[in-house]
Amino acid sequence: MPYTYDDQNIFAKILRGEIPNDTVLETEHSLAFRDIRPQAPVHVLVIPRGSYVCYDHFAQDASDAEILDYTRAIGRVCEMEGVADGGFRLIANAGEAGVQEVPHLHVHILAGRPLGRMLERG
Ligand code: 5GP
Repeated sequence: MPYTYDDQNIFAKILRGEIPNDTVLETEHSLAFRDIRPQAPVHVLVIPRGSYVCYDHFAQDASDAEILDYTRAIGRVCEMEGVADGGFRLIANAGEAGVQEVPHLHVHILAGRPLGRMLERG
């Protein structure tokens, strides 16, 4: 499936330094920063620096180095934020049904309170 990347999305602007962010971790291929509207005491977004719309796009087209860096970056943020003890959730929304607001791949790391069941019906 062809993916069309909009380089005017808000995370592309953050990556270009046009919009400030509360950085948690920077690596060669990834950036982690706090969500501007946190839904839990810990709410960090981890994004690849490359122009990928969503997770399946990344999994298909990213290099091994990017995938390794991104996966490790998510793990490092979990460690830095100390989420393992109390438990946490990773979410990667995609497209319309997934209600993806920003069309640049991001994984949400949520922790610090009971997060409820994964999905509500309806
Ligand atoms: P999505 O619904 O696409 O999975 O999540 C997008 C997330 O990006 C939302 O949780 C929203 O609060 C966050 N967000 C939107 N704009 C900004 C911004 O300018 N800065 C930061 N740090 N987060 C943002």
